[in-house]
Amino acid sequence: MSSDKPEALEEFEYQAEMKQLLHLIVHSLYSHREVFLREVISNASDALNQVRFRQLTDKDIVSPDAPLRINISVDSEAQTFSIADTGIGMTKEDLVDRVGTIASSGTVAFLERLKEEGKPFDANMIGQFGIGFYSVFMVTDQVVIETRHADPGSKGYRWESTGESKFTVEEFPREGRGTTISFKLKDDAKEFSEEYRVNEIIKKYSNFADFPIHVNGEQVNTISALWQKSKNEVTDEELEEFYKFISNDFGSILGHMHLAIEGQVNFKAMVFVPETAPFNFLRGDDLKSLQLYANRIFIQDDCKELLPEYLRFVAGVVDTEDLPLNVSREVTQSSPVMGKIKNVLTGRILSLLEDWAKNEQEKYDKFFTNFGLLFKTGLSTDFGNRDRMIDLLRFESTKTEKGKFTSLKDYVAGMQEDQKEIYYLTGETRAAVELNPNLEYFTKRGIEVLFFIDPADIFNIPQLHEYDEKPIKGIESADLDLKSDEESEADSLTEGESKSLISLFKETLGDKVEDVVESKRLVDSAATLVVGASGMDRQMERMMKMMNQDIPGSKKILEINPAHPLIKNLAQIHEQKGDEPLLKSCVLQVYEGTLLIDGNMDSPTDFVARMTEIMEHATR
Ligand code: ADP
Repeated sequence: MSSDKPEALEEFEYQAEMKQLLHLIVHSLYSHREVFLREVISNASDALNQVRFRQLTDKDIVSPDAPLRINISVDSEAQTFSIADTGIGMTKEDLVDRVGTIASSGTVAFLERLKEEGKPFDANMIGQFGIGFYSVFMVTDQVVIETRHADPGSKGYRWESTGESKFTVEEFPREGRGTTISFKLKDDAKEFSEEYRVNEIIKKYSNFADFPIHVNGEQVNTISALWQKSKNEVTDEELEEFYKFISNDFGSILGHMHLAIEGQVNFKAMVFVPETAPFNFLRGDDLKSLQLYANRIFIQDDCKELLPEYLRFVAGVVDTEDLPLNVSREVTQSSPVMGKIKNVLTGRILSLLEDWAKNEQEKYDKFFTNFGLLFKTGLSTDFGNRDRMIDLLRFESTKTEKGKFTSLKDYVAGMQEDQKEIYYLTGETRAAVELNPNLEYFTKRGIEVLFFIDPADIFNIPQLHEYDEKPIKGIESADLDLKSDEESEADSLTEGESKSLISLFKETLGDKVEDVVESKRLVDSAATLVVGASGMDRQMERMMKMMNQDIPGSKKILEINPAHPLIKNLAQIHEQKGDEPLLKSCVLQVYEGTLLIDGNMDSPTDFVARMTEIMEHATR
């Protein structure tokens, strides 16, 4: 290709995912359409930040003296809208690869799921998916981008698309660097060509943008670094607005901290704990972390070095005087300043949470419900703060209502006089653990049992081993310090009866179980399975299997309740009639009943056949 002949128009097809996404945007999004404006302003602002950052070290760029600014022009007669920035601009590759492609491959799947589940799909969510630019297709049928990159020697390009299946790119003469996006509004979206309306939206979403935004020649936003103000100068309304601006979240704040730290390290920070978790949060998609400023100049978005992973639900801004302005990403990663800021911030955030836990329980519980899963991962990564974190853990238990929590500290305070251990039970849901027969002993005696129904608990907490010098034990383990119940003991099998019945169980079950023993923990149930010393917690086992870990299912110990009428009847029949076939069926049935409760029964057909046989016998 000769260099002086402009590149001809090229046509590109969107990837299939992108087409689906565009379809969803055009046909499903009718509420909050004004967010398109926030998205294009935020992109322009990013582009300006990039050029400002580059200018710190490199003066050799296209239009070095152009003011850093966003110009919006609207014409309500012609129903047109355009936004121009003097930012970094785009190369042809950027236009094809970044604008034309979805960044996150899970996006469409997620949106489809929302739709299937009948959850409202709201334009407000769009910013969370890295597809912000495409929100313009909510308000227009056709978009033109004209752009030129800041690199000297770059060329101008024009991109055009109707948001259906294709876009085109062609070379286009352009003198200055930066990007202009323009379109004609659909009839039902013409409000966005009204100056007053556009001003109103900018005030709502983009008031804190770092660069002047002009609409038809007039500056609309107030540029102020809110975090630089003193605490009492900042209103609640400003805080909410600022939070929405930096987080792209349209929910509210649960709490915030406004810090001015001086000493070993100097920085100002404004950080927020959101009231609700983002939609994609539990799927492990990245949350945006804090923004880093040096002397009021934006350095980096989503700066992972400022907070540990387990606190990444915190949104906000950190502005420090201790970093050089022309700091590069490599420097931010290795600078000791960053480490110090991270330590101070982590400590402060933990203090904030401790304060809530102590004085604002409802708030704390809300936080824990939303972000507990992520927060708990800190137990295995931040050993320095482990003890503080352990006290911040919350659990449901036999003594809390569903959805309400207790802490290890409160558990210990409520322990019975002779109780030496902290007890827990694992399971998938509260309803499932509540049905577990192993709880009977504890319920009868009023001993609290913590419910570990969050997978993170099952992995993390048993590793703690003890709290306040009290061992933490699963109540399914065979080696618990249980006291026998005198009342039911009087009414139990004799030693001889018990021995002979147990040998019948052992013979019948063979190597299905590790052992058969008399139970002290059962009250109403006839039998239960417990985990021997070598065995693995069954919830843990189930999770490992789910994660395709190839582990041999460990054998369990069957405990039978010597005071239960069924067990006593079986013992009697055994005494009188020896090895009668019905007895074997009953033994198998008792055993498989415990498997059923465990969620581990493999052969329902045999179970039902045996049940039929036993009923037939009983109704004879
Ligand atoms: P996101 O901004 O979340 O990456 P968008 O769909 O909004 O997703 O934008 C896609 C990409 O297009 C951006 O990452 C950026 O590379 C590019 N882009 C969009 N608008 C501009 C602009 N005004 N100037 C320079 N690049 C831009």
